[in-house]
Amino acid sequence: MMSQYTPMIQQYLQVKADYQDAFLFFRLGDFYEMFFDDAVKASQELEITLTSRDGGSSERIPMCGVPYHAASNYIDILIEKGFKVAICEQVEDPKKTKGMVKREVVQLITPGTKMDGKGLVEKENNYIASISDFEGSFGIAYTDLSTGENHVSLITSSFDLVLNEMATIGAKEIVVHSQFKDNYQKQLIERIHATISIEDDLTEKMDYQNLLSDISNQEMRISIIRLLNYLFRTQKRSLDHLQPVSEVEINQFMKIDYFSKRNLEITETIRSKGKKGSLLWLLDETMTAMGGRLLKQWLDRPLIDQKEIERRQQLVETLIERFFERQDLREKLKEVYDLERLAGRVAFGNVNARDLIQLKYSLQQIPIIRQILAQMNIENGKIVESLDPCEELTDLLERAIIDNPPLSIKEGGIIQDGYHQELDQYRDASRNGKNWLAALEQEERVKTGIKSLKIGYNRVFGYYIEVTKSNLHLLEDGRYERKQTLANAERFITPELKEKETLILQAEEKSVELEYDLFVQVREFVKEFIPRLQNLAKAVSEIDCLQCFATISEARHYVKPKFNHERKIVIKEGRHPVVEKVMNAQEYVPNDCLMDSDRELLLITGPNMSGKSTYMRQIALTSILAQIGCYVPASEAILPIFDQVFTRIGAADDLISGQSTFMVEMLEAKNAITNATKDSLILFDEIGRGTSTYDGMALAQAIIEYIHSRIGAKTLFSTHYHELTILDESLKQLKNVHVSAIEQNGNVVFLHKIKEGPADKSYGIHVAQLAELPAELIKRANEILSQLENQDSQETSTPIKQKNQSSEQLSFFEVPESKPKQDVSSKEKKIVDELKNINLLEMNPLQAMNTLYELQKKLKG
Ligand code: ADP
Repeated sequence: MMSQYTPMIQQYLQVKADYQDAFLFFRLGDFYEMFFDDAVKASQELEITLTSRDGGSSERIPMCGVPYHAASNYIDILIEKGFKVAICEQVEDPKKTKGMVKREVVQLITPGTKMDGKGLVEKENNYIASISDFEGSFGIAYTDLSTGENHVSLITSSFDLVLNEMATIGAKEIVVHSQFKDNYQKQLIERIHATISIEDDLTEKMDYQNLLSDISNQEMRISIIRLLNYLFRTQKRSLDHLQPVSEVEINQFMKIDYFSKRNLEITETIRSKGKKGSLLWLLDETMTAMGGRLLKQWLDRPLIDQKEIERRQQLVETLIERFFERQDLREKLKEVYDLERLAGRVAFGNVNARDLIQLKYSLQQIPIIRQILAQMNIENGKIVESLDPCEELTDLLERAIIDNPPLSIKEGGIIQDGYHQELDQYRDASRNGKNWLAALEQEERVKTGIKSLKIGYNRVFGYYIEVTKSNLHLLEDGRYERKQTLANAERFITPELKEKETLILQAEEKSVELEYDLFVQVREFVKEFIPRLQNLAKAVSEIDCLQCFATISEARHYVKPKFNHERKIVIKEGRHPVVEKVMNAQEYVPNDCLMDSDRELLLITGPNMSGKSTYMRQIALTSILAQIGCYVPASEAILPIFDQVFTRIGAADDLISGQSTFMVEMLEAKNAITNATKDSLILFDEIGRGTSTYDGMALAQAIIEYIHSRIGAKTLFSTHYHELTILDESLKQLKNVHVSAIEQNGNVVFLHKIKEGPADKSYGIHVAQLAELPAELIKRANEILSQLENQDSQETSTPIKQKNQSSEQLSFFEVPESKPKQDVSSKEKKIVDELKNINLLEMNPLQAMNTLYELQKKLKG
């Protein structure tokens, strides 16, 4: 029953009906108010006071509000949390209307459509995507509204790949059909943490022709139209900066699934989820925000086209050789502002004069950058050509806008003298007037003999002459008209002062109005340049990424990798790029990697913490670096071009989706095994560890055999199942390598050196011996080992007989006679129980250490 409410609440409810999934910020005077459920929820999310008001019905209506001038902070908070905010403004002047002022939603702000503010990271894109489900395939489109870039691709396999793409681009918001499968939506929310929005309108608007000119595939067109219709419907303003849609052919890039990206810590680390410590962090020597974003895109999609990789390498090589020019280039790039996002804001109509000054500075760098590159004769001048200096624009900005303009665009002080004749005239009038005032002040002082007499201005009374009370008797009668009385002074006007005042104020008012108009004209002029600025931004970001590669490659002594088609890997003195940086280059032990048609699968053994997983990762990271066109951390590198990289490394538990570690392990193994080709790289670290020994070992062996005979992908497989090392007898392309350790001054020292052959299998006992465990214990361990070995050779699985026939597993040592055996056993049992109940998944390594230490202490004590 709407009619019971006051007209204002009725209006609110009408607007709200169209924005059910957003907080409606309803403008009332200087506040945005929220009502009903929105108010209750917003008061919690924003931690603001919930009040209530009378709305015509019997019950009071919950209400809360935020001041108009501080709204953007509150909006940022809601958007960060994944909500949407509909901004509802008064669209009529309240002074000119009778009755209710008309109100409309002017913009829907969502996580995927933010143009500025907190949610936007300089060096990261902010994508909004759409997914359209066709029979047997999915169309995905994505746009960064802040930069205007637009992409589309078609995925003809499972929804997993769609999830993978969404994770790769980091979509903040995903637009789908209202009938889109619940199960899919659920996965998008849980795995990608995206906000879901609905758009069913698929009509193609006239304005889309330019955007869609390169896309003929109907499914792709539908996907992008869904997204565009959503953007235009919600943003309700000019989106002139949107760039023609480009098709992303996913098969044209090296594929790295989401888990592998996470495991390899390419753009963020597993533990902190931050950039620091990732490959991106190591690499990022870009000088511009645009370059930073492109670098991340390049890392997300390494190339497989050898020609294009080698083109990048060639440019990097020149940039490395020309050290001094590169330094100059870096200096100049640093001065280049985020042209892409600026273009977006110009289109949106929210740039100020300071932005335009930044644009001017940026454009002024372009001819210098061109000159530096021309000196290097880089790519025969092709790149130089792509840097469009937009001279007419630079020229206009130089003439039009003063160097230190104010933030506000409505209060004047923006346009240069000499730019516009009429403006100059107003300014003269106002400046002359002010000089005249100064002269008048002087004159009046002389005439009256009052030294403290002054001329001032306030908004209510205009210009006045101020005389302190003690001097009033010095004023000539009749000439001064009293306007205002203060505690110890009086303010007067004279007819001549009044006359000048009108002139000055009119000139000022007119000049402010005119300045605003001129500013808008300049802004419109900039708008014309949006496509050119976007192309310039692309060229600048590419150069920035290439100089970044050159800078890193030189600083960290990387080499240019060569590619071969024989699927051969020759890495000499390879290093893990990030570990090397973190640990200080001298301490890092470089390792070779040789793999060819006789060595397809390396089985890596060696004690824990010896460096197996670091070695495996370094091979993958080296390949990724090579395929984005960067040099690699080695003294020599010959590599194949990998189509895909798969990893199963460490305990990257998928706790959120509630799957067990072992299940995740098997899912990742399945993903690799079903998708890998012989041109892929597979890294399996300790697979099969999450289950019982024989179970795990059997699986590990079967997986190895399957990869060896069915797939033939280059594979690095680390294992603690020493038994697997004999596989080299039956599998021809499998070779054993190991990481060894030595004794030094009585301590075990890991050398982190990869060597041929399997690890010494009695290594563990050897280390125990080095650690000076009791001789009796070592002897017993050797006995057990040989029993186990015999048993293995007889292929039985009867448990090993224990020396004392006690049923307690752990008590195979002679128990000191002084302690009754029963006591010890029950204590041990308690400890074993404790051990069983520890939830390892919720511990960090340090906590695990401490717990182990405590348990051991109890055992000993
Ligand atoms: P594993 O997989 O064998 O348990 P990791 O690869 O996790 O061992 O390496 C353990 C630690 O050893 C790493 O954190 C790193 O600090 C160090 N490490 C690994 N490889 C090297 C190396 N080549 N040079 C120096 N230190 C290394």
